[in-house]
Amino acid sequence: MTDIDGHTRLIGLMATPIRHSLSPTMHNAAFKKLGLNYAYLAFEVGTDTLAAAVQAIRTLDMRGSNVSMPNKTAIIPYLDELDQAAALAQAVNTVVNDQGRLTGYTTDGVGFVNDLAKKGHPVQGKKIVLIGAGGAGTPIAIQAAIAGASAIQIFNRADGHFQQAQQNAQVLQERFGCQTSVHDLADQAALKAALAWADIYCDATAVGMTPLADQALITDPTWFKPDLVVYDVVYAPRETKLMKTAKTAGLTHVYNGLGMMMEQGAAAFQLWTGQAMPLATVQAALTEKETAACQTTPS
Ligand code: NAD
Repeated sequence: MTDIDGHTRLIGLMATPIRHSLSPTMHNAAFKKLGLNYAYLAFEVGTDTLAAAVQAIRTLDMRGSNVSMPNKTAIIPYLDELDQAAALAQAVNTVVNDQGRLTGYTTDGVGFVNDLAKKGHPVQGKKIVLIGAGGAGTPIAIQAAIAGASAIQIFNRADGHFQQAQQNAQVLQERFGCQTSVHDLADQAALKAALAWADIYCDATAVGMTPLADQALITDPTWFKPDLVVYDVVYAPRETKLMKTAKTAGLTHVYNGLGMMMEQGAAAFQLWTGQAMPLATVQAALTEKETAACQTTPS
């Protein structure tokens, strides 16, 4: 951040647990680089204190906030407006305060779509297989449809997210002309066939992340065709079991979710400041933080 003075405006991050978040490092490095008079702080906020925390955005004339679990949907009744993707996802990760009027956005899907585009894989006209229909998978499907993906096959366990995914699929089909279908993840034959059909495969579940770091939802490398783009939203570890399996199959376009994380932050940054996030600076700040954390972690 720049030197704090009487004009500094606060931007928050409201979630719990939150102390591990990389967002304060990202945004404060970007403010400093561009000389913007904002400060970004993380606040331990759960659904029990959310109403008061949102009121504080107005009372303290904060520029806005990021929101993460468990508040992404719970915050909606306290806001004045939602943008299109947030309304469809019924989830918010960014709040912008314009003179007391609070608008909710979801930038996770934008992060996915923008990161893929920057890596040379725009989703427009593409066929996508997406596993997961939770807080990450839902906005990814919505933004991919908004950005012109031709078809999406969503696979999910028969859990609480399944029915919601079916409802969303119908909306994406009707509103954006994106052929969207939902399948039970237990139907492995359908999943294998879908991978042979797809241009892009995205795993939007927590499988692959600690404590599931030794797991992947696809373990047979022969299911991957050579030109498939494989994207794992998990970025800790940097190379997940899914990514290793895809690389074993000889795939070259295999990515973790770090770029999505940075791009969702960049989209929020743009909404608050009107400026593009200096991504090279942010990347350097994240690397420095990671290196420092490794050096202070006892082996
Ligand atoms: P969530 O709890 O809202 O949804 C989890 C989804 O994964 C559900 O669809 C669930 O059915 C599925 N799932 C969970 N465990 C599974 C298993 N063992 N087998 C099959 N399916 C399983 O969580 P979320 O908010 O969607 O987060 C999912 C992952 O995405 C997390 O690892 C999170 O850290 C990551 N994420 C990354 C970014 C990024 O910018 N890269 C952004 C948001 C979330």
